[in-house]
Amino acid sequence: MLTNQLLLNQIAEEVKTCKKCELYKCAKNAVPGEGNPKAKIMLIGEAPGRNEDLTGRPFVGSAGKLLDSVLEKAGLKRNDIFIGNIAKHRPPDNRAPKLEEIEACTPYLDRQIKIIKPEIIVPLGTHSSKYILEKAGLEFTTISDVRGKAFDGSALGSKIKIVPSFHPAAVIYNRKLRETIEEDFKMIKDII
Ligand code: URA
Repeated sequence: MLTNQLLLNQIAEEVKTCKKCELYKCAKNAVPGEGNPKAKIMLIGEAPGRNEDLTGRPFVGSAGKLLDSVLEKAGLKRNDIFIGNIAKHRPPDNRAPKLEEIEACTPYLDRQIKIIKPEIIVPLGTHSSKYILEKAGLEFTTISDVRGKAFDGSALGSKIKIVPSFHPAAVIYNRKLRETIEEDFKMIKDII
């Protein structure tokens, strides 16, 4: 029986050579995702930015620093969590991933979720919240509407709680959202 880590490594290797959409052409490194292979909490961002593209690791740039401080304030450890993305290669000029890119890439994310079987999925921002809620047969309205709510859903063979929150990059642009993202992560810590 292969361990979760070995199965996740296999996916990472596939992602590194993936040509299912055009994004690999401009990217320096794929960012398959990283973290605890048996995480109770899985965070899902949108797509790698510049620093993630350079390092091959998720959320290591300014959005990542903000995320780290939100996690710390909530009493959550990054090492206990798995962090993935909807798109695994950086879109040029940090544009949002296109629908066809999301469709090409999310089978990798689905496989990661199936292996890890997290208790809580925290999609960060509009794209990943829409993807995860709809995957669980739930309706996505707007990120401001769904954030901070705990949705009970069933997706990819497991029951999952989904707690959407703002994307950390949105919090950098609008500092007023800082308190709100902190409240959301406090709630996540209390659920777990
Ligand atoms: N933004 C994301 O959505 N994902 C990352 O990995 C980094 C920044």
